[in-house]
Amino acid sequence: MSNLEVLTRCGYIALVGRPNVGKSTLLNHLVGQKISITSRKPQTTRQRILGLINREETQLVFVDTPGFHLGIEKKLNQLMNKTVQTAIGDVDVIVLMVDRPAFLPQDEPLLNACKKSKVPVYLLINKVDELNDKAILLPFLQKCQILDLFKEIIPVSALKGHNLEVLIKSLVQYMPEGPWLFAPDQITDRNARHLAAEFVREKITRQMGDELPYATAVEIENFKHKGNLIEISAVIHVEKSTQKAMLIGESGSRLKLIGSEARADLEALLGSQVMLRLWVKTKTGWSDDERALRSLGLED
Ligand code: GDP
Ligand code: MG
Repeated sequence: MSNLEVLTRCGYIALVGRPNVGKSTLLNHLVGQKISITSRKPQTTRQRILGLINREETQLVFVDTPGFHLGIEKKLNQLMNKTVQTAIGDVDVIVLMVDRPAFLPQDEPLLNACKKSKVPVYLLINKVDELNDKAILLPFLQKCQILDLFKEIIPVSALKGHNLEVLIKSLVQYMPEGPWLFAPDQITDRNARHLAAEFVREKITRQMGDELPYATAVEIENFKHKGNLIEISAVIHVEKSTQKAMLIGESGSRLKLIGSEARADLEALLGSQVMLRLWVKTKTGWSDDERALRSLGLED
């Protein structure tokens, strides 16, 4: 064997946690670009998305999962839970995230899944930038150590980037030897078309607050390079005509705002000028209909 051969490592890390703890924010900060949409509302991330981070000879493949849900009612929620379970099943490390120095009842199912797992489990205590007195971390850290479940417990701020390199450096040791599975310049497994739909959905979630819980899906109808310009047209599917009216807003003002915010994010991601056209269509009961979900690309 030639001693010029460089030993490479590549491994999968599942990022799990209740909705809203900051998983997507962490992933975006780590890859240095927005690839996973975030919001103050839970359940923003619907599908598994990979974030790729390279450090020296190691490639770390982060799997951002939709939040773990109890009280499953609709098909869409079932699909999201399935995605989480698949993500935990086949990784080298599990990173469990919480957003305060405490476990909530909603953390229980994930804690139990972590206990059964054979791979190292990390605990990330996120949003420490919100703690005025960091000393309140101490009793929780102590409690977690007694649990004897976590290989590492790291307080971080995904938003401010605090302690994230500590996390990466530590994870590297658990990445198995092997070839890189993705190109060095790739940051995610999702293509621009998919990200375009996600960005539009993020802006809708932010604009609409609680008015549209699951009721939207975004379908990219057209994605075309035209000289220096990328032309994108997207259809926003809603369940009711009242929702359609809300989304469009007075003389189209809300839809215009959604469009211009999504366009700005897309231009940053694609490094190109973007022309984005949005339409709203009513599709009754789509979030309960498996076939409709598939046709909108929501089933993995
Ligand atoms: P996810 O559902 O776990 O993917 O959570 P998101 O990444 O969408 O984040 C949910 C909300 O928490 C967003 O409003 C984020 O801006 C916010 N957030 C995430 N990380 C931090 C953090 O480290 N500090 C603070 N203050 N807010 C954060
Ligand atoms: Mg998310």
